[in-house]
Amino acid sequence: MLLIDSNSRGSRIAKNVLTVVIICAVFITAIYFKKGTVSDENDWATQQIETMQGIRQTAQDSVAFAQSMEDPDQYAAEIENVQQYITDYDQLAKTKEIQSITTHDPMQRAIGSLNRNRQQEAVSNMQVTARNLDEQTKTLLDAVDKTMSDDFTQHGGQWLLQVDDPTQVNELIDRYGKDRHYSSMQDLLTDLQSLQKLRSTVKQQVSDSVANLHNAEVSTAAIAVPALNGDLDPAGWYTLATNVAGTMGVQIEQTMEYGCGDQTSGLPQEFTVAYYCQSSDRAQRNVVHILTTHPSWTQTARSPWLVDVVKHELSHRSIMISCGTIQPAIAGDRTEAVTNSYSVLYLGADRGRIAEQQQGLAEYAMDEQSDQIASSIHDGNCG
Ligand SMILES: [Zn+2]
Repeated sequence: MLLIDSNSRGSRIAKNVLTVVIICAVFITAIYFKKGTVSDENDWATQQIETMQGIRQTAQDSVAFAQSMEDPDQYAAEIENVQQYITDYDQLAKTKEIQSITTHDPMQRAIGSLNRNRQQEAVSNMQVTARNLDEQTKTLLDAVDKTMSDDFTQHGGQWLLQVDDPTQVNELIDRYGKDRHYSSMQDLLTDLQSLQKLRSTVKQQVSDSVANLHNAEVSTAAIAVPALNGDLDPAGWYTLATNVAGTMGVQIEQTMEYGCGDQTSGLPQEFTVAYYCQSSDRAQRNVVHILTTHPSWTQTARSPWLVDVVKHELSHRSIMISCGTIQPAIAGDRTEAVTNSYSVLYLGADRGRIAEQQQGLAEYAMDEQSDQIASSIHDGNCG
């Protein structure tokens, strides 16, 4: 019989190997027995974390969205709250309990699952933070939603009058007219992003429409208008007036009765030679009405005054396209004087002739102030 000397080198190595083997065996057994439930519970935890990561992503995208809006400083407090919860969330996500769930290393997952309670506790803590993060994201998105819809409520009607093509404004009106319901924060964000895209398109269309208007005004003002009644025959004056309006894409319609649907003029009808209707009816947008029943019509039709009259009505339209209303706040109670000034400054109407024809009509009398207001409107300041 060979006695093993426990102090010999060979014996020590054998003992160490045995220890390692035994530990490994115990460890493998532990994993083996746990295996049945490890998979299910890990799936559950992994799923929870994936959901929470979605919440975090939506929160981050919402911050980026709010920051991309005009005047993002108004959401500074809400953005800060969301960012604070994102930081808290990220700290929890870094803990070894959560890492042991999200890792792809099977051994690390197995080790983590040995302490199931601590994992669950970590997931629960994260869920509380994720819920708070989701709530703060909602507060932020609601604030952005409110500014966007307030802006629409205030200006939607004006945009409709301003744009050359109302398709997108009508789509916006349609979408804001419906109840909006969202099944998730991501849904809310996606819808707001799409509303914002549509709104940006509309605002660009408003700018384009004003730019087109200004180009047309330059062409219209460049059309030569003879000074004397006898320079053209009545048909010639009418053709000239038609060309002036046509250059702006506007038609002249002769009517026998004054009226813009349900609108009434502030002036007695005897003053009205021509009129322009501000209306959501697109058919009215590019029409100037001339009242042929007016006592002075025959005289007007045989003179350059006809062109000034048409230019005055075209100026109501220009102001409407620039401001979304023929009566912008900046004009105060001087709408008609400002409209005259606009026709002189931007459509080449004759200041002297207008003053002469409208003697005694204080409301229409131009001065330095009405010129300044017309110039502000042309620059895009409507008050
Ligand atoms: Zn007028």
